Amino acid sequence: MTKQIVLATGNKGKVKELGNMLESLQIEVLPQSKFEVSDVEETGTTFVENAIIKARHAAKETGLPAIADDSGIEVDALNGAPGVFSARFAGAGASDQQNIDKLLTSLENQDNRTARFWCVLVYMRHEKDPTPVICQASWEGTIATSQHGDGGFGYDPVFWVDSLQKMAAELTKEEKNAISHRGQALQQLMTHFKSTL
Ligand code: IMP
Repeated sequence: MTKQIVLATGNKGKVKELGNMLESLQIEVLPQSKFEVSDVEETGTTFVENAIIKARHAAKETGLPAIADDSGIEVDALNGAPGVFSARFAGAGASDQQNIDKLLTSLENQDNRTARFWCVLVYMRHEKDPTPVICQASWEGTIATSQHGDGGFGYDPVFWVDSLQKMAAELTKEEKNAISHRGQALQQLMTHFKSTL
């Protein structure tokens, strides 16, 4: 029998990506928009907390098991900022470009430019699940002094990937998925489902 899981995101690309991966395990991934799940405030100070808040909320409102993700970038010279504020580093509703500009300004004259993306994926079997499955993965890089490339999203145009000698925004989708924080967290989640079903 097909198992249904709700994905706590409004991003159609994420639903499709996870849906394709879990299809072979007879798991159907449904967007939370299908159930008109309300927005929930991401009040956590960690990616794990925010992912749990979103998964719990979706499980509560749908009565289904839920998966949620949270991601962002941690910059060492900024003591981990922007972290959970990555999407709104330059303020609520900021564009990717505004966030990049703020990051480059914050690192002006800074030699230490090491950073990493983080992705946390959480799976909760039900609203009160006391042992959520937590998949957490990172992707190391350095923040460049100027931007290049037009692929990807967010901070990709300034995220230098040493192993490929390219900016993240210059990678193909396949190249990025193979090594990114998100690709790795998804692999962890797949491993979990394969071992428990
Ligand atoms: P969300 O988890 O989709 O809300 O992403 C949080 C924010 O982190 C995004 O808006 C981006 O600014 C940043 N971010 C997360 N993953 C990536 C990535 O793979 N490339 C570039 N930026 C990212």
